[in-house]
Amino acid sequence: MKTTTRTLGIRKNIALVAHDNCKSQLLSWTTRHQKLLQRHNLFATGTTGALLSKECYLSIERMISGPMGGDQQLGAKISEGGIDILIFFWDPLNAVPHDPDVKALLRIASVWNIPVATNSSTADFIMDSELINAEVDIDIPDYQAYLGDRT
Ligand code: PGA
Repeated sequence: MKTTTRTLGIRKNIALVAHDNCKSQLLSWTTRHQKLLQRHNLFATGTTGALLSKECYLSIERMISGPMGGDQQLGAKISEGGIDILIFFWDPLNAVPHDPDVKALLRIASVWNIPVATNSSTADFIMDSELINAEVDIDIPDYQAYLGDRT
């Protein structure tokens, strides 16, 4: 597929999601990076967002809970260019009922080429990158060209 460019702004739209067994890990990661995260727009699935906004006093736009469709809401936002970075601590040791939604969220993040962290080390690398506070051009599928090729 042809590609085009999307510019991620200095103030980024960051989505935060953690499965139940990983929520405490995301909470401590968020606490550690709280100062930097305040400079960005934050989104989260329902329960994750409730926990983080209560414990970290961050302003977070909340989707509904992941298993009830929140992962899909974030996926839709990604495909519309509304999410720039996905921090998703999914649980590698336990099955979840919404496994298809988890796969779909990870898949759509790859389709639209946004930075994704599925563990705290990678999430640290993202936050420590100079790109977190810079405009960044990323390659994305050229959807208009894709449509043109089909009409
Ligand atoms: P939750 O959803 O934040 O509502 O727990 C997370 C998930 O399971 O995707």
